[in-house]
Amino acid sequence: MDGAGMNLLLRGTLWIVVFIGLVLTPMIVLVVRPVPGGAGFWWDFSVALGFASTTMMGITFALTARFRRATEPFGIDIVYYMHRRIAWIALILAVLHPVLIFAENPSLIRILDPAVMPRHLVAACASFLGLILLIGTSAWRRQLGIEYDRWRALHAILAVLTLVLAVIHIQQVGYYVDEPWKKWLWVIIPASWIGFVLYRRLIKPFAIMRRPYQVTEVRQELGQCWTLVFEPEGHSGLRFSPGQFVWLSLWYTPFALREHPFSIASSAEDPSKIEITIKELGDFTRQIGNVKVGERAYMEGPYGIFTIDRMPAPGYVFIAGGVGVAPFMGILRTMADRRDPRPVLLFYGAKSWEGLTFRDELKGLETRLDLKTVVILENPTPEWEGEKGMITKNVLEKHLPAEHIRRAYFIDGPEPMMEAVEKSLLQLGVPGSDIHVEIYDLA
Ligand SMILES: Cc1cc2nc3c(=O)[nH]c(=O)nc-3n(C[C@H](O)[C@H](O)[C@H](O)COP(=O)(O)OP(=O)(O)OC[C@H]3O[C@@H](n4cnc5c(N)ncnc54)[C@H](O)[C@@H]3O)c2cc1C
Repeated sequence: MDGAGMNLLLRGTLWIVVFIGLVLTPMIVLVVRPVPGGAGFWWDFSVALGFASTTMMGITFALTARFRRATEPFGIDIVYYMHRRIAWIALILAVLHPVLIFAENPSLIRILDPAVMPRHLVAACASFLGLILLIGTSAWRRQLGIEYDRWRALHAILAVLTLVLAVIHIQQVGYYVDEPWKKWLWVIIPASWIGFVLYRRLIKPFAIMRRPYQVTEVRQELGQCWTLVFEPEGHSGLRFSPGQFVWLSLWYTPFALREHPFSIASSAEDPSKIEITIKELGDFTRQIGNVKVGERAYMEGPYGIFTIDRMPAPGYVFIAGGVGVAPFMGILRTMADRRDPRPVLLFYGAKSWEGLTFRDELKGLETRLDLKTVVILENPTPEWEGEKGMITKNVLEKHLPAEHIRRAYFIDGPEPMMEAVEKSLLQLGVPGSDIHVEIYDLA
């Protein structure tokens, strides 16, 4: 491992320690004496689970605050993945908390009757319902037909409500938070969790607004794609590594939180100009062709660890499906500007030759780099003599060089393609640690 890798490992470890500290501290203060006694192990254990569930809910706010320094060692896709997993753990703990209490004291079940339900239990039930809605609408958003931007607003409101109700429950029960200083601490700590939301929704957008960009070119590309070129307005632009991505806000200020993630397709050697290539897919991306030169835009980033700068290797194999080629264009353009002599093999799957985005530029890049491109067409014309169908193990095996085990692999494309390619590479003996994927589905 080189010096930079070691540094990232140390920083990653440090952030994990900070994270564990943030989860445990609010609970550790509860066992500082005086503590209530006599309720028995299972009662106290179930209460601890309730506290842990609330703390985990709070911590998920920090994970989506997009602190660049904290996300850098892991990659923001992994951080979002953790956010989802921790929410599920919080739900399991929230279920176990009352289950253990009622199992230990079955007579207490009667207080679930709405006619006699105490106020603290009403808050707990409402918080629990909020948590279920929060996770349900996130895990099954597409099946429920909830549009992404609406879901984000709903998600933020539900998250804050769920947490506030859980804290009301804790305060009203007062068990382990009966001392005034503990009561206050359990107001201040949750307030700081909500502070992460304010940071994300107010402070960060304000900072982004101070570094605007202007659209200087709108270019139609093959394959229903558009390339937008941006130049910084009154600032020095963005320093990024090839393959990273930004959150782009167009037509709205960053306060609207209607931003979309896109890979940077331009060379990292020229931060004064950012290019993004966007495929027409949904509500937002289908309007990209209407963008006018001179329009203002905002960018948050760069993010992501899908970059050759983080994965040094004697050579690379890139595997792209459709617009998944965008980050590779950024990497290849950067490598060409850097006169990087390392060999690159690009497998590029697309529907047809007519829709093969960047096909002419790739030919040009082959003359500037040690680059070989293998195009795989799903619907080729009868004259097509190249590879047909999907990027299968056979296709990979046929074109990979003999020393393929020594190369680093990057995959970007539709999820089923990425899964199939990763599986094939593993079968071909490529170590899992040399395979890097870009997760397009953060939500
Ligand atoms: C790291 C990363 C890099 C990407 N790079 C590119 C690229 O270079 N070129 C490209 O064309 N596409 C890229 N995408 C995909 C692109 O962000 C989505 O296609 C786009 O946001 C879809 O928006 P829509 O409203 O047009 O489509 P919709 O039909 O509304 O959304 C389609 C799906 O895209 C996702 N999505 C929508 N809005 C957002 C959002 N604001 N934030 C996160 N996900 C969202 C959701 O999963 C949604 O179900 C990238 C995605 C990620 C995560």
